[in-house]
Amino acid sequence: MSKREHLIYDPEHECMSRDQLLALQSVRLVETVKREYENVPMYRARMDEKGITPDDIRSVEDLKLLPFMEKTDLRDYYPFQLLASQKSEIVRIQGSSGTTGKPIVAGYTRNDVNVWSNMMARTLTAAGCTRDDIVQVAYGLGLFTGGFGAYQGADRLGAMVVPMSSGNTQRQIMMMKDLGVTLLCCTPSYAAYLGETIHEMGLVPGKDIHLKAGCFGAEPWTEAMRVRIEALLGIDACDIYGLTEIAGPGVAFECLEKHGMHINEDHVIAEIIDPATGEPLPYGQSGELVFTTITKTGMPMLRYRTHDICSLTVEKCACGRTLARMSRITGRTDDMLIIRGVNVFPSQIETVLVGTQGVAPHYMLIVDRVNDSDTLEVQVEMTEDMFSDTVSHIEAVHKHIADQIKSVVGISAKVTLVAPKSVPRSEGKAKRVIDKRKL
Ligand code: ADP
Ligand code: ZN
Repeated sequence: MSKREHLIYDPEHECMSRDQLLALQSVRLVETVKREYENVPMYRARMDEKGITPDDIRSVEDLKLLPFMEKTDLRDYYPFQLLASQKSEIVRIQGSSGTTGKPIVAGYTRNDVNVWSNMMARTLTAAGCTRDDIVQVAYGLGLFTGGFGAYQGADRLGAMVVPMSSGNTQRQIMMMKDLGVTLLCCTPSYAAYLGETIHEMGLVPGKDIHLKAGCFGAEPWTEAMRVRIEALLGIDACDIYGLTEIAGPGVAFECLEKHGMHINEDHVIAEIIDPATGEPLPYGQSGELVFTTITKTGMPMLRYRTHDICSLTVEKCACGRTLARMSRITGRTDDMLIIRGVNVFPSQIETVLVGTQGVAPHYMLIVDRVNDSDTLEVQVEMTEDMFSDTVSHIEAVHKHIADQIKSVVGISAKVTLVAPKSVPRSEGKAKRVIDKRKL
């Protein structure tokens, strides 16, 4: 049994009986399906095609009748066609990278920003945060949801927020030390990097740095990484999960028991499906995580396939919350990579290469982690003509590709032009990625 003190932001909802929760979810689901059917022609057509109407959805039991939504829907109906509210009701746009060069965007009503802030307030509270804390937000503040999410949650708690955004490590550490920051929000890899830099600077956690906990997420990490971050910074490191399409960070969060992330189930319904058949799987089994939002009004998502692989449990947690927990994300069912917190699809790189004269669409992405920071190398084959061209021309093409990748994907990559026919060919599915971080 844990001897920890567990703080809970909204016990009424976080500790509800499973029966009460199911009843609440059902009411909210019915409302959401009606709203979606009446306002989003694409989803109405999808339901019509399956021969179902909102009247067929009476409880969570009926969820499995509904058609899925996908990331490609956000691209195909970009930017506003999935809105279930008037455009004038939308008070915020957040975005993320899509499967091609275009970002995907999500519109939030005042209600949705509220829901999200509430989820993040619960998240921070679960890590031990109160209004007496000083919260440093070192997630990027911008179109990406990380920074704003953490900011909103801390603001809701009445904590003192330091909205640093990402990068500028020396300055982050100076603020952390001078202000006596107690809670850190950033990606786990950046937390480790901050920790190492703190030690290199000769600063001592507990003496110069007063952090007690951190909420780290937006990318996959491991227990080994947790142990490392906790030792480097002298803190409790909690995992936090989210995605732009559903709300941003805070969809699920760890309590100080640190054994899986509680899902904010009064706001979202989580399912695990078999990725091949789409059939729902029971608790405990690993499969693809699917979310249905039941309180969002701007851009509700029904049975949204995240492509993230994990399992769920409703076993009792010592913290007192009854919310189901999801395991760490163990992989993806598609080829999305997360590099320095940015979603990267090999197809985005391919789009750049196919549009460039002088190179063949034969490439290999090599992802690695150096000094706790992800690196991306793109090896691309030159055509025979290009191979015997002038050095200055080759350099120009090289620069063009690097610039294009930066602008389309949003991160910089090391581009290496290699000789024709030197990228290994495959007879089956092409192997385009070597992810050394997994070793
Ligand atoms: P965010 O800003 O939260 O990263 P995005 O929409 O850009 O949101 O990316 C969402 C994706 O990031 C998820 O589908 C998942 O693959 C990954 N992700 C987010 N949080 C975690 C986490 N704690 N562990 C593993 N993967 C995560
Ligand atoms: Zn718990």
